[in-house]
Amino acid sequence: MAYKVVIDAGHGGSDPGATYGNRFEKDDALDLSFAVGNILEENGIDVEYTRVDDVYNTPFEKATMANNANADLLISIHRDSVPTPNSREGISALVFNDTGFKAQLARNINSNLEALGFRNNGVIERPNLVVLKRSKMPAVLLEVGFINNDNDNMIFDENFTDIAKAIADGIIESINIQPAMTMQVEKPKLYRVQVGAFTNMDNAIRLENTLRRLGYSTFIVSS
Ligand SMILES: [Zn+2]
Repeated sequence: MAYKVVIDAGHGGSDPGATYGNRFEKDDALDLSFAVGNILEENGIDVEYTRVDDVYNTPFEKATMANNANADLLISIHRDSVPTPNSREGISALVFNDTGFKAQLARNINSNLEALGFRNNGVIERPNLVVLKRSKMPAVLLEVGFINNDNDNMIFDENFTDIAKAIADGIIESINIQPAMTMQVEKPKLYRVQVGAFTNMDNAIRLENTLRRLGYSTFIVSS
């Protein structure tokens, strides 16, 4: 079964997200979501979207859509904002907690975006963000530059295709190394049955022989 990514374009409909002049976060998010999704599909990844037009759903509904789609990964695309225009710049990736696959994925995407000229503000834990908290699969929320920073908007507009590719590449690269990471994390469980401990080696060997005759494979551990 193909790997499935749900892409959530942040905000939508009655919720424009952050705005700057006549620029709306919800529009930038939707445009970039499609661009990322197209590249993922070209690479054999199943893609579903929480929205494909200008409609509003709550963050909880967006998380539920990803859960119902049985997605392997949820990527939520946003633009950042601060009260004072041009006082901050750069990209960041928000995660429920900074561990495991999602954290590595977040760093990979950040590095790719940094290479395009964005300041890298790193991976930030946001355990109370509903879309991160309520989704059952690894989830990363990308803040792709500040919408009220002129330099970030210039990078966003002039490198739009490369930004989509940076995000998609980050996802594809991370998926490809995920099996190895999973094996490191999920150690096999060991159920140990201990039947005796002896100070006399002969007694230990006698018990082992008895158990072997009964068909059990045994081993002696000395300490
Ligand atoms: Zn947002």
